Amino acid sequence: MGEGMELCENGPVENSTFALSDVQRHFRDTMRLFAEEKVLPHAAEIDRTAEFPWESFKACVEMELPALGIPEAYGGAGADMVTQAIMAEELARVCASTSLTMLISKLGMLPIMNWGSEELKERYLPRVAAGEIQASYCLSEADAGSDVAAMGSRAVRDGDDYILTGSKYWITNAGISDVYIVFAKTDPTARGRGISCFVVERDWGISIAKHEDKLGLRGSPTGEVVLDEVRVPATHRIGEEGQGFTIAMHTLDRSRPTIGAQAVGIAQGAIDYAATYMKQRHAFGAPIADLQGLRFMLAEMAIRTEAARALIYRACAMVDSDPTNELTLFGAMAKAFASDTAMSVTIDAVQLLGGYGYTKDFPVERFLRDAKVTQIYEGTNQVQKVVIAREILKNA
Ligand SMILES: Cc1cc2nc3c(=O)[nH]c(=O)nc-3n(C[C@H](O)[C@H](O)[C@H](O)COP(=O)(O)OP(=O)(O)OC[C@H]3O[C@@H](n4cnc5c(N)ncnc54)[C@H](O)[C@@H]3O)c2cc1C
Repeated sequence: MGEGMELCENGPVENSTFALSDVQRHFRDTMRLFAEEKVLPHAAEIDRTAEFPWESFKACVEMELPALGIPEAYGGAGADMVTQAIMAEELARVCASTSLTMLISKLGMLPIMNWGSEELKERYLPRVAAGEIQASYCLSEADAGSDVAAMGSRAVRDGDDYILTGSKYWITNAGISDVYIVFAKTDPTARGRGISCFVVERDWGISIAKHEDKLGLRGSPTGEVVLDEVRVPATHRIGEEGQGFTIAMHTLDRSRPTIGAQAVGIAQGAIDYAATYMKQRHAFGAPIADLQGLRFMLAEMAIRTEAARALIYRACAMVDSDPTNELTLFGAMAKAFASDTAMSVTIDAVQLLGGYGYTKDFPVERFLRDAKVTQIYEGTNQVQKVVIAREILKNA
């Protein structure tokens, strides 16, 4: 019997993706301790100052977390996607901004991992795995968010180079990242089919026009990345000319489940905090945890979060193995459900803390603000529903 196979009364079956392995459970325990000791102490402060969480990032590098999603052949740990989701969850349970520092470079490296040349893989993957450099993913523009194909950025071939000009909006890690994956049109007359994908190093001429002052995820810088005739060697094109839209969607399919994991982590953080508070806070001579109405709220929050987690792990397992080609459907469902869950759970957590929940002395209002963006980025939840319906109708 092969590794990963077990006997059941109906014969051998593969290990279920619905149960965590011992290694994954142990990893969660380790991550929880690490996040509470090294990340949590900075979370409120970086939210207040809106500064990049360098202390937390460095602690993550010491834990070798940037290596998790990079293949072993390029200096990474080659971890499965459920394990990567656990990392995102446990970091987001205490600080969503820090969880995004780990997810964003992975998002940037996915096009290189799946579509890039050997030269590009060797040049960037080991350094991202070691935490020496960080990456950004530059798809959106001011007038092209959900409608990616409407982008106006241009890439014009010039001998062995391309000249890139344009402005990329909403870019996570703008100014922090060393490497920018930039989508631009090589054929401006075409929509999606005119887009190509490039790796651009910051020092080649990228500038940051502005940073957004955001509702949540305040420790994660979001900015406008400007390219003004930046010369990029043709060797730094990822995939073929015109393949950019396909690369972008393929990449988001593989990243979206981890955004859902971030949402699940935020929801779990809110549940854990609210449950502890309910036992300590007294009203009418008894802990508010004794009130059945509040117990039912807590139970609903836990049910939805656990259901979201199950859907996320299912989608994550499909990133590793998708024989029936269902990742697009499940990734979209998982991200939409998990982010809606995070939103409703964090709103309820604020309610459970009463007036205190509405202040910055307690973390649940931060969880609420951080949860909101998970319904917006990597495709809004409306767009996820467009995708879900399209996939269902395709097979009807
Ligand atoms: C904090 C943050 C970080 C981000 N990081 C990055 C990043 O690193 N890289 C990057 O490339 N982008 C990033 N984004 C951009 C993000 O992906 C876009 O904001 C998102 O795709 C939505 O685009 P938009 O803001 O232009 O909204 P619009 O596309 O203008 O949407 C406006 C409204 O219309 C709805 N809508 C649009 N089209 C449809 C449709 N077909 N059917 C139904 N409803 C529709 C939307 O759901 C939304 O409610 C980030 C955004 C934020 C807020």
